[in-house]
Order: sequence, then structure tokens, then C-alpha cells
Amino acid sequence: MLSITPSQTVLFTHFTLPQSDRPASLLCEHGRILAVNPSPETGSDTTIDLRGGVLYPGFTDAHLHLLGLGQSRDMLDLVGTTSAADIVRQVAQKVNATPVGEWIRGRGWDQNDWKEIRFPDRQSLDAVAPNHPVALTRIDGHALWVNTAALQAAGISPETPDPSGGKIYRDDQGQPTGILVDNAMNLVYRIIPEDSPATHRRQLDQAVRYLNSLGLTAVHDAGTSRETLRHLRAMETEGQLTLRVYAMLNDDPDDYEPYLVSGPDVSDPLITVRALKLYLDGALGSRGAALLQPYSDDPENRGLIVTDSALVAEKVRRFNDAGFQVNVHCIGDRANRMALDIFARNGRPENRNRIEHAQIIAPEDIPRFAELGVIPSMQATHCTSDMYWADERLGAERLVEAYPWQSLIQAGSLIPGGSDAPVEVPNPLWGFYAAITRQDHQGWPAGGWQPREKMTPEQALHMLTDWPAYASFREQELGRIRPGYWADFTVLDRNILSCPPEDVLETQVLFTIVGGRIVYAGPTP
Ligand SMILES: [Zn+2]
Repeated sequence: MLSITPSQTVLFTHFTLPQSDRPASLLCEHGRILAVNPSPETGSDTTIDLRGGVLYPGFTDAHLHLLGLGQSRDMLDLVGTTSAADIVRQVAQKVNATPVGEWIRGRGWDQNDWKEIRFPDRQSLDAVAPNHPVALTRIDGHALWVNTAALQAAGISPETPDPSGGKIYRDDQGQPTGILVDNAMNLVYRIIPEDSPATHRRQLDQAVRYLNSLGLTAVHDAGTSRETLRHLRAMETEGQLTLRVYAMLNDDPDDYEPYLVSGPDVSDPLITVRALKLYLDGALGSRGAALLQPYSDDPENRGLIVTDSALVAEKVRRFNDAGFQVNVHCIGDRANRMALDIFARNGRPENRNRIEHAQIIAPEDIPRFAELGVIPSMQATHCTSDMYWADERLGAERLVEAYPWQSLIQAGSLIPGGSDAPVEVPNPLWGFYAAITRQDHQGWPAGGWQPREKMTPEQALHMLTDWPAYASFREQELGRIRPGYWADFTVLDRNILSCPPEDVLETQVLFTIVGGRIVYAGPTP
């Protein structure tokens, strides 16, 4: 990593901008852009060669869960593993990177995928993890593979009876083998300690580095605790925070009360606290999304409203009055309409309130977003993950309501794009690809799903750059390549505005630059 004293002037050279093939250069100082294509006589303290890449305004993920992402990356992902030995190797690597005594977690193994189809045992884990308790959940969540340290920590011995609704597998001598099924898993789950603050800090560090490696320079964190904010500020002080974070506070008085007193925190260039996150309904997959008409595959069910609408209205008033944006999770058309009605009566347009997800919207509600100044904050990859079964839930007629990006844009909305990681992979290029194709990575369906709602490549670039900047009140200093704007850049090996859509998925990140500092450099060929 290249460190630059903020007061140095830095000249970035050897790149192009996406709108033109002409070589470009940028002069930066104090972390901001001083001049685009400065005259050749202009001197600088440092010159950085961007390897012929294409330079974009820094990409933002406008909806993810930062700590959740760090936690999920802390767990071993065992989906697709082909043998017990393969998993033991992964555990051994993790042991090397984990302090003694800390738990090693993983999920996703399936012995039916292995050449030797039988349950694994604790001894194979003991060989590589004698001093770390290990707990690996089967892909269906109904069996747990543990080592001896975990059995001991849970007090499971040959004498322990099977709990009701559970089974402790035992060998010929009656010794537990390390496989616990159903309710027996709780004997271990209940003693796994909550992650310590030190663990959270490590998970946040890992998440930030991972996001930088994907080309991201900023994120909007959809549910931030005070503890996370403390870690982020410590990281900033230590020079380790290499990502701008726009925090949506958790709907928990412990997390938000101090801010209602102090007001929004907008003075820090890296960490902004100016929003509250609320939930109005559930998700479409589990039929929790609140729909105006019943589910097509469950005629008695219109989904769930999870927070009383009067309470949401009260919070909108209180937080808007205090200068905060309110961002409400709404998936179904009933939840979206309810949130728009609440914002119409209780919200202030200058607070730029947002609906997070805004997945299913009745056609007559689409223009209301722009009319009310409510921002639809959407995740393009949710569309391409859900399209395989969305018609079962919604029926053919209602599909016109699903992920209506182009209709919203034509009605005057801008759509900040996110991933909802760890629910989806936070690769912004995957989001870009989903937005312009509405296809999966194999090109299904031909022509795209509900293709009239695709975005153009230019719109999809706005979705990753200046639209999230607007949604976080920073359009005057983020999301564009202009003098005075922060020097946040994503440098790719090709022009995603003009390359064939399928090539977007092959695109490499050459550099991620935040405040004029390189925070990630891709491998040199
Ligand atoms: Zn989310």
C-alpha cells in the first residue's frame, strides 16, 4: 500500500475516463481533486501511473451490513466441498489465523457430495485443531460436526443423554463421534460465546479490506450500532479506515438516543451519522413481504407488517425534525404504499427519506417516489436472485411491479444501488451487470427478465456513483470527477460503459483510491 502525506500533491497519470479514449490526468491535494487534465507544466510531489486503466468516480454500495459481512466472512464457507479432508485443510488454515481458544465456525458441508458418503468424526478435526473448539454446521442446518474441544466445552460426555428431539452420535465404545443432530446441536450452540468487541473489530477490518478489493470506496451501512461506530472511529484514528461509511442507526434507543440529542454527525469526512433504519415488512422468499393482494402461491396470505405504522410515523416525524433521514425496509407493494403514505403525511422532503429495497411497487405508486422526494434504494442482484421463483409468489400479472428500475427513473427517481451483503455478494460489477442485463451469469433468461426495466450502462454507473452520493447528502463532494470533489476513484481494466455486458463479469479492479490514497492495488500481470 502506498501512503501519501495528505498535504502532498499527487498527479495520477496513464488512464482514461469512461466518456472518452483520450489519455487523462488528475492533480489531487489534501485528498481532493485540484484539477482535471492540468497543464503539463504543473508540478506535483508524486506521480502515480494507473497502468492504462479506466478511472470512474469511486463506487459506493448504498445498502449493506458491514459487521454482518465481516462475520459471514469469518465463518468457513463449506458449500461445494468434496471431502472431509478438504474441510479439515480449510480448518487447519483458519487455526493458524485464530487466537487459541477462539471458536472456529463454518457452514455448508454435505457428506452426500463426498466420494465417501458417511458422517465425518471429531478425530479428523482434533488432528488440526487440538486447542480451538470447532463447530461446522451441515448445509441444511440440521447437523453439527464438532471436535473434542467443542464437546468438552459443552460438557458432552458418554454419559450425556440424547436431548429430546436430538441425537448425539456415538461409536462402539459409546464415545460421542462429533456429530450432533437437531436439538443436540443446541448443547454446543448455547455455549458459543457472543463475539467479543475485539472480534468485531477484526471482522470490520476484514470487511473493509475485502470491499476495497472489489473497488468500493464507500458504503451505506443499513443498521449501525454504537459499538460499530466506536470501532470505525478507532480505525479512522489509526489510519485503518479506508472506506467512507454512511451509517443508518439501528432502531434501538441505545444506539440512537444520544444522536437524537446531539443531532446528525456530518463533520467527519469518512464517517457520517445521519440516518435511521426501520423495518416495515419481511422478505418475498419467505412470504413475509406485505402485498396488496394475496400471494399467488398462498391465497390466504398477504404477508406481514412487522412494525406498527403509527410507530413508524412517529419516528419519521421525530427523526426528520432532528435532521435525520429515515430509511424504511419495504419489499411488498402494500409496505411500499404504507411507507409512501407515512412519508407524505409525516416526512419532510429535505430529509431525502428512503425506502430500502422497494422491490414490488404498484404502478400508481411509482410516480409518488419522485413527487414526495422519497428515494428508492434498490439492489439489482436481488432481482436476478429472485427471478427464478418471483412469478410463483406474484403471478404473471403482478410481475410488472417487480424491480421497476426504468419506470422509476423515467418518473424522475434516482436509484442508489446496493448489494445487501452478506445476503448477496457485494461485488459492484455484479450489481452493474444485473442492472443492465436482468440476467444471471449464464445469460438466463435470453433478453433479460422483464427486460423493459433494465438500466442503460450510464444509468447503472450513476447507480454506483453520484446517486448514492445524493442519497447520503454528499453530491457536492462525492460521485463525480470534478475539482473540489474527494479523490475517490475506482480504476478498472476496461470501459464498462462500452464493453459487451458479459465482459463486465471478467473486469478486474486495478486500483481503489480513497482520498487520493491507494487502498487497494490489483495484481500486476
Ligand atoms: Zn439489508
